[in-house]
Amino acid sequence: MIYNVAGLLTGNLGDSEQYEIENVSLEIDGHSLREINGPVRLMRTDQSVLVSAEIEAVTRGVCSRCLEPATMNVVVNMEEEYSPVNVDLVGKSGKSSNRDGSPDDDYYDPTLTITDQNYLDLTEGLGQALLGALPIAILCKEDCLGICPLCRVNRNIIQCSCAESSIDPRWAGLAGLTSKGAKFAD
Ligand SMILES: [Zn+2]
Ligand SMILES: [Zn+2]
Repeated sequence: MIYNVAGLLTGNLGDSEQYEIENVSLEIDGHSLREINGPVRLMRTDQSVLVSAEIEAVTRGVCSRCLEPATMNVVVNMEEEYSPVNVDLVGKSGKSSNRDGSPDDDYYDPTLTITDQNYLDLTEGLGQALLGALPIAILCKEDCLGICPLCRVNRNIIQCSCAESSIDPRWAGLAGLTSKGAKFAD
């Protein structure tokens, strides 16, 4: 996911190039993202290259309800501006650059930088965008029934009879006590 944007930077405002990400895998912050696919559009703006991408990916984890392995689809619409280290290419138009050649911006994000060789590396930026789009809770399926709070079976596999009794799970412990008490009474 590294693109040479020399042509864009030396071209005209509004010039664009289209790329396709196909079946890329990434590991970010302990999350594994696979089957990353989607179109990427690079467009030359005044001082930068605007990246627009509509990306789909698949992440694997553990279902937060039933604790079985789960895969989930992630969709992200990314839009980020990448600024060239080599500001000479895009023309300064009044803006100055620092002595070391880095853009003279208050906000300077090294992950959103085009190298002095005019390479734009999408990996980090896209990874962050995908991370932000990850679901807070991974589910094996939307209607996962989870683990029974009473008898601990996976209710997707075994249909226990606990659900039929209308005992609030928070009172399950007490219910257990009463039934034991009832046995004593026998
Ligand atoms: Zn589940
Ligand atoms: Zn149960």
